[in-house]
Amino acid sequence: MAPGTATTTASTTATAPAPATAPAPAPTPATAPYGPRIDCGRLCLDLLATTHPEEQLHSPDRLRAWMTGAGIVPPGTSLTAADASWLASFRELRGCVGLLVRGEASRDSRPYEIALGRINELARAATPAPCAVRTDEGSLVRALDGAPDCAALLAVVARDAVELLTDPVACAGLRQCAGDNCPIVYVDTSRGRRRRWCSSETCGNRERVARHRRRAALARA
Ligand SMILES: [Zn+2]
Repeated sequence: MAPGTATTTASTTATAPAPATAPAPAPTPATAPYGPRIDCGRLCLDLLATTHPEEQLHSPDRLRAWMTGAGIVPPGTSLTAADASWLASFRELRGCVGLLVRGEASRDSRPYEIALGRINELARAATPAPCAVRTDEGSLVRALDGAPDCAALLAVVARDAVELLTDPVACAGLRQCAGDNCPIVYVDTSRGRRRRWCSSETCGNRERVARHRRRAALARA
């Protein structure tokens, strides 16, 4: 099983205080307003997806928004320390993840060795300590015990990459989206492993529209 899937989903939903009378849950949008993809099945792949369709991590503000949106930190976590050096570090980690999961470099090449060494180094740091805090309504929500530093948050993603790379079942499910020029990599956990798109709303829909146009053009010919 891919633990990242459950972690990402659980951490984004479990932190919302439960209303007294629970309405039907609102459908989760495929992308939040600032555009992070949180449907890759793993945290490290969600980070990798922030290059598409254009660079999303172009300011510390965007990085903060991504970290909260991807569920690396619970909502409300203080990330005021995030600056340009955090941005550079997360982008560097993203480059390493990309090299290791996309198979761009052969396993005994120097770039592969360097990326692997870097991921292992980042994974060594302690991750932020979680704690349960009481809301005004009396329910418990997850928070972090103090404002996290950059190394601790890099470690969250680096450890996810280590788990993915050492999990043969998850690695066997690694796919690149079949969409035109779409670089998104995800773990296919669907029944029968038949998922073809990073998202059926974007790439899947684009392909359906293209297929329809081709059929219509053939019918006219
Ligand atoms: Zn795609």
